[in-house]
Amino acid sequence: AKRTGGSGYAFFEPHMNAGVRQQIELQRDLRLAIERREFELHYQPKVNAGTSLITGVEALVRWRHPTRGMLSPVLFIPVAERFGLIGALGSWVIDEACRQVAAWSAQGMRMRVAINLSVHQLRQDDLAKRISAAIAQHKIDPVLLTFEITESVAMEDAESTLQMFEDLSRIGVKLSIDDFGTGYSSLSYLRRLRVGELKIDRSFVQDLEFSADARAIVEAVIGLAHVLGLKVVAEGVETAAQRDVLTRLHCDDLQGYLFAKPMTPEMMTKWVEGDDA
Ligand code: C2E
Ligand code: CA
Ligand code: CA
Ligand code: CA
Repeated sequence: AKRTGGSGYAFFEPHMNAGVRQQIELQRDLRLAIERREFELHYQPKVNAGTSLITGVEALVRWRHPTRGMLSPVLFIPVAERFGLIGALGSWVIDEACRQVAAWSAQGMRMRVAINLSVHQLRQDDLAKRISAAIAQHKIDPVLLTFEITESVAMEDAESTLQMFEDLSRIGVKLSIDDFGTGYSSLSYLRRLRVGELKIDRSFVQDLEFSADARAIVEAVIGLAHVLGLKVVAEGVETAAQRDVLTRLHCDDLQGYLFAKPMTPEMMTKWVEGDDA
């Protein structure tokens, strides 16, 4: 297949492949969707490995597309990043998550919410300002917010990441390194980053039952994180066997379909109150 990335010219090629054409359509729809607010945040709980009690939720964006149904962020986040729409979408996500934290507070639920940040958001000079504005507007406690940044993004431009993490931690929000284990962060770098949490990538969790290597890596990561005073969350936990191994390895929190899929805020509230099915 020929290269299709980047140039405007490629968009008008008659033999353009279906994938590219779809991206362009998505891009056009996405602009409208941002104006029309066709997005929703769903929430997936994280639970303490020892007690199974909820420790917080991760906000995951969905697009209620008028004709194509509910679309996954895997489909549209890369498109939003590529076409410069992630700033607007990301701001909506931050604002909506803060609004939900406030709504839960009003219901007497002190819920911690984790928000994903993309590479372009992290490189926006006014990110910290936008976040503090949303926190102030919704009158929420900043410690209830965690921002998740993937390890590869955090590593990409170490200096600017350090600066941004410093700005963010000064606001009082928490920081987490997502998809940990897929990049090659150095120990000293992690110490300087002011992160409080590592999320072990699902690929390691999947291999836990079958691979002694995966178990050794996860055990080492948890040990290292604990030495550094970091909390460890395992993502994508689907089986009881995975849960048992992770618990034995002293993983702090677990997240995955074994406990719950991402849910609407209403379902999330019910789940917390204990009348989920
Ligand atoms: P992520 O941050 O690694 O989020 C975890 C993904 O794994 C979510 O997919 C979640 O639904 C899924 N997941 C959770 N438990 C399990 C499990 O047990 N098994 C399997 N197979 N999957 C599980 P989702 O919601 O489709 O999100 C995909 C990615 O899109 C996220 O990966 C994140 O990188 C990105 N994303 C989602 N929401 C946002 C957002 O608001 N902003 C930004 N910038 N990115 C977002
Ligand atoms: Ca995440
Ligand atoms: Ca992740
Ligand atoms: Ca992942």
